[in-house]
Amino acid sequence: ARSSEERGVVVIGLGRFGSHLAGSLLRLGHEVMAVDRDPARVERWSARLDRVVQADATEEDALRQLGITSFGRAVVAIGASLEASVFTVLALAELGLPQIWARATSRRHARILSSVGAHHVVFPEAETGERVAHLIVTRMLDFI
Ligand code: ATP
Repeated sequence: ARSSEERGVVVIGLGRFGSHLAGSLLRLGHEVMAVDRDPARVERWSARLDRVVQADATEEDALRQLGITSFGRAVVAIGASLEASVFTVLALAELGLPQIWARATSRRHARILSSVGAHHVVFPEAETGERVAHLIVTRMLDFI
């Protein structure tokens, strides 16, 4: 059997973060299945991403029907809707996904995601802000 590292990645939520993430994973040579509940988003990304499907990811049965249990990793890229993000992580945890990554918008959000089963929590806005601050400071030092 293939390890979770070798199997593909499911990306849930095709906002700015999720769509860039899915595109980068594809360019890095990974098999990607993208899921969004908004038919317009699905339509928009289906030309550029390999597999894009329309489903409400908070529904465990819908995820099961998509064959998500054959994937080793999932990333919940939903940001704005706390409820959708938490219920989606819960559904993935109940399906037994080996590696669940989730996006949090606050420390409290992160604690909830971890307690319902996320293995890794990321903060794209906070992390990017910090990285850009370092970039700016490094460039400033270049000119001293
Ligand atoms: P970004 O900052 O990445 O642009 P956002 O915070 O503006 O994201 P969100 O509301 O977090 O936008 O939604 C990101 C994507 O997740 C949207 O395309 C939305 O349709 C999708 N999404 C939200 N809830 C669900 C759900 N239950 N199932 C599947 N997709 C969902």
